[in-house]
Amino acid sequence: MSESIAPRTSLYGRRASDPKWARLRTDVPSVLRRGAWYRVLAVTPRQVRLTVNTAPVLMGRDQVELRLEPPRRWTVLLKPARLARVPQSFHDGYLVCPSCRNRVSLPQRAALTLRCPRCNVLSEVGWDEHYLGESRGVEVPQKD
Ligand SMILES: [Zn+2]
Repeated sequence: MSESIAPRTSLYGRRASDPKWARLRTDVPSVLRRGAWYRVLAVTPRQVRLTVNTAPVLMGRDQVELRLEPPRRWTVLLKPARLARVPQSFHDGYLVCPSCRNRVSLPQRAALTLRCPRCNVLSEVGWDEHYLGESRGVEVPQKD
């Protein structure tokens, strides 16, 4: 009888010490799209191995934000400082989809939720995160 490896029943089966997602948290040149979440393959005290477009990438642990839960909020980038790989239409800011990493223009009105035109997932907008400190001069809607 073959001892085949049982298929994992859940992608999110996890241990407390076992982060599953990573996002760039320093504004450095990187193959990682700023604001986008990537799947973590392994974490050591100093490094994180993650997948970017199916290729494994090694990052310094202090360069990424780690989390256990799947991301559910749009990352807001306001007036991004690095524009090298950012289309002209996003130079004033854009959102990054938590599900598929698609980028979209900032909504006209500061919507609290937004449906991704690419993956069709409806997600909250992380207006209050101040991702990479990029919150200069933009009105942030108040929740209540
Ligand atoms: Zn999407």
